[in-house]
Amino acid sequence: MTSKFIAQSYRRYYAWLLTLGMTRTVLLATLIAITGSVVTTAVLLLLIPGPNDFFWYGMIVAVVSPALTAPGLGSVAFKMAFQLSTAQTALTLAAETDALTGIANRRSFMVQAELAFLGARSTGVSFAVIMADIDHFKAINDTHGHGVGDDVIRDVAQACKAALRQGDCFARFGGEEFIALLPMTNHAEALAMAEVLRETVATLAFENRMPPAVTISLGVAGYLASSASLHDILNEADRQLYAAKAAGRNRVMMAGPEARLAS
Ligand code: GH3
Ligand code: MG
Ligand code: MG
Repeated sequence: MTSKFIAQSYRRYYAWLLTLGMTRTVLLATLIAITGSVVTTAVLLLLIPGPNDFFWYGMIVAVVSPALTAPGLGSVAFKMAFQLSTAQTALTLAAETDALTGIANRRSFMVQAELAFLGARSTGVSFAVIMADIDHFKAINDTHGHGVGDDVIRDVAQACKAALRQGDCFARFGGEEFIALLPMTNHAEALAMAEVLRETVATLAFENRMPPAVTISLGVAGYLASSASLHDILNEADRQLYAAKAAGRNRVMMAGPEARLAS
């Protein structure tokens, strides 16, 4: 209990120092060092009888000594702490980002999706996922080369991310497959959003118009009160994506009689 409190206080104190910035932190540390030195020296000199001058010489030393040493020592220590914090932020970002596209990676998506699932279970607020896969991508690679293939994956990812809302998560699920998490979204809204993504990619202008056309197929699945797990929802989206491929590609599929949109 006590160690938990100490650990929490330390984290809060460390976070506060980071918001202060390097210069102000070193200044603050110097002020604390001077205050500590003055108080300790004053108490000691008041306890030890001696001439009056002796006290004031002591006070000068108590101020000057930490004022000279603390900024140097503080700079070295805090510089390391600030560098560590910057490195931690960069590492966290790298661990959550797909290197090719710059969008979220699968791991980051799964963490957010699990949270959305737990939230939906406790509050009943629905969410939806859209699984998307580039059509005949192997042919793009084979015809134009892997470099162009990579460019297509990157452009599709960026265009879809830009088409979604701010709170949505758009991630690369693997290869040329993407997944969107739409919080607080019902089935009809998710279907409409999937259609926006389909159209966004179908009308995307690629540099030098290479390749001439790229399309995606999409499967949509929403949270239901009967959903036993997140995997149920992901499997359903995958099934619908597979159905969209089988039905001719460049289309959106979702379970339900009215939920079929074709290009
Ligand atoms: P379908 O319409 O059924 O989805 O056909 P497809 O050709 O898109 O599907 P398939 O799964 O057969 O091919 C996917 C290809 O994507 C195979 C793989 O070589 C390629 N691929 C996976 N990751 C990357 C990548 O990062 N860069 C490039 N250039 N190609 C990739
Ligand atoms: Mg494909
Ligand atoms: Mg695929």
